[in-house]
Amino acid sequence: MKKLLLTLTALCLCSVLAMGAKKTKVKEHQNPFMTEYTTKYKIPPFQDITYADYVPAVKAGIEQHNQEINAIIVRRDRPDFDNTILALDNSGQLLTKVCYVYYALSESDGTPEMEKISAEIRPLITAHSDEVSMNAELFKKVKEVYDNQKLFNLTRPQQRLLEKTYKSFVRNGALLNDADKATLKQINQEIAAAQMQFNLNLLNENNKTEVVVDNAAELAGLPESTVAEAASQAESRGKAGKWVFTVHAPSRLAVLTYADSRSLRERMYKAYMSIGSKDNEYNNSANINKIINLRVRKANLLGYDTYADMMMDKVMSKTVENAENLLYQIWKPAVAKAKEEIADMQAYINRHGGDFKLAAWDYYYYAEKVKKERFNISEDEVRPYFQLDNVVKGLFAEAGKLYGITFTPMPKAPKYNPEVNVYDVKDAAGKHVAVFMTDYFPRATKRQGAWMSEMQSAYNYNGEDIRPIVFNVGNFTKPTKQLPSLLTIDEVETAFHEFGHGLHGMLTRAQFRGIAGTNIDRDAVELPSQFNEHWKFEPELLKIYARHYKTGEVIPDEMVKKLEASSRFNMGFRTTELCGAALLDIEWHKMNFAKDIDVEKFEKSVARRLGMPEEIQFRYRSPYFKHIFGSDEYAAGYYTYLWAEVLSADAASLFEEKGMYDQESAQSFLHNILEAGDSEDAMTLFKQFRGREPQVDALLRDRGLK
Ligand SMILES: [Zn+2]
Repeated sequence: MKKLLLTLTALCLCSVLAMGAKKTKVKEHQNPFMTEYTTKYKIPPFQDITYADYVPAVKAGIEQHNQEINAIIVRRDRPDFDNTILALDNSGQLLTKVCYVYYALSESDGTPEMEKISAEIRPLITAHSDEVSMNAELFKKVKEVYDNQKLFNLTRPQQRLLEKTYKSFVRNGALLNDADKATLKQINQEIAAAQMQFNLNLLNENNKTEVVVDNAAELAGLPESTVAEAASQAESRGKAGKWVFTVHAPSRLAVLTYADSRSLRERMYKAYMSIGSKDNEYNNSANINKIINLRVRKANLLGYDTYADMMMDKVMSKTVENAENLLYQIWKPAVAKAKEEIADMQAYINRHGGDFKLAAWDYYYYAEKVKKERFNISEDEVRPYFQLDNVVKGLFAEAGKLYGITFTPMPKAPKYNPEVNVYDVKDAAGKHVAVFMTDYFPRATKRQGAWMSEMQSAYNYNGEDIRPIVFNVGNFTKPTKQLPSLLTIDEVETAFHEFGHGLHGMLTRAQFRGIAGTNIDRDAVELPSQFNEHWKFEPELLKIYARHYKTGEVIPDEMVKKLEASSRFNMGFRTTELCGAALLDIEWHKMNFAKDIDVEKFEKSVARRLGMPEEIQFRYRSPYFKHIFGSDEYAAGYYTYLWAEVLSADAASLFEEKGMYDQESAQSFLHNILEAGDSEDAMTLFKQFRGREPQVDALLRDRGLK
């Protein structure tokens, strides 16, 4: 009886559900990642994606990827490019698909829900990528293709992808015996631990270091907002009635630039310089030594003399010597210029009755005074000419004139936030090239800074030409009820910079995912972006985009000239501190044996050898040089900023010679740089475009050092 009842109830329930479904047409939620996107150009259908979709899709993606890798391993036929290297490059489609959306949104829309998902997803992905990169069976197949490549008659892009794949395994220790593999793993863990401790110390020092003022007279010259912030800092630190300045950039730079009190500036300067090297628990000397020594051991284990050798081997510069040669060509004129600037400032001090020699803590303050005297131009006069919508028109016009592409708004396209704009990018013949998205305003859920990224990379998949989805994100001045978004010069430059990365991603024609778009050497990747900045003040373009938001008047030539001149101001100092830091980084990583080093003595000896003016310090002192000790990202790679700037200035100088819209040069830049990705050696590509190796002259001219 009871059983019957249950069956009946179950039946009834079923029919009720079925009827309900018929009546209201409730659609069952399907995980959008798991089915093919049906949207135009396969833009992710953001409105259909729920937070609950990510983790299952990542797990399914990992599972699918593992199966694909296994299929490569178990093949009986001889490994070749298609069945191994290409198969690997094409594998993991589902995982990549969900990761594109996940990474994009976790940075630009990092809601608490997204953070929760991150805590689950990140470890899964790290573990998976470790597993793939250390898969010995898989490496065996890759190595067999690599060792026998002569038999396959590979094209150049195929060779490049093969080499890149092989080398990335080797760098993870694939060629080592088991004992050495274990050692490498141990070293990697110890480096990661020391870096974490380095960053933790830095965070603590940055937050705890303070400069306290209890006499209001010492605040003279400081902007009101800085003083107000210092008062509220004091209150939150139990020092109500006083003012607390911190070493965080807004507070520190305001004090160094505007405080009339020399002693306050000196206290701030010394507080900053001592970050991570005070005699306290946050001293970073031991961590620096640990990291340097472990890196030497790692390089040795992988067959390199030094860590710098190892890092340069895989990039455009190729050798430490090449990187250093380039830096020295910049260093000398930079120091000479800095000495002129120091003399100008000293003259200003003398003229205004100062009876002292300019010290390092006076640098920002007197640079600002001299700048004001020379170019009296305020940001407020300039911004009305740079309304964001117009700047975007300028970007599109520039790309149209150079590469013949057009941007058509897609108002109905899916977007993850109403502030996002989506464009259909087409070539001169009207053929679809890419989707471009912009997301320019700050939000509480968006991280700081500006960047370019992708939701889909371009490549050829089973004969199908897949076109990319590229986006630019910024944190630009937001419109208000009274004013549209009016950009600062820095923001205009950033928009041009990120759009340059965007073009690199959009216009790529490289055949394989692993070598497409911005997937290139770390010292060449900033070439297209910095190159694109050279059009921001191009007169023809300014007429199109730099128009007063109220009157429509084009920005006056005089103002542009002043802007250009003032952008070169203080470049001796800025280049010296930057180039100095790049050289210091290389010096740290040129060591070929482990030893205990006194950090301060080491820095001083490098500065002395370089002939660094005593009024200037390295842009970052080692105990807070996070780029090189906080992670591996810029280790033995801080020079890449200047390296890429040499390339971009030199590339742009061809247009300065031949005309900013010279079609032959534009087509050459398009084919050799923007379209090529990593399908050829970066130096070869540059030489094909420029007709010779890169030279520093254009950079020196742009920075006003020559
Ligand atoms: Zn960049």
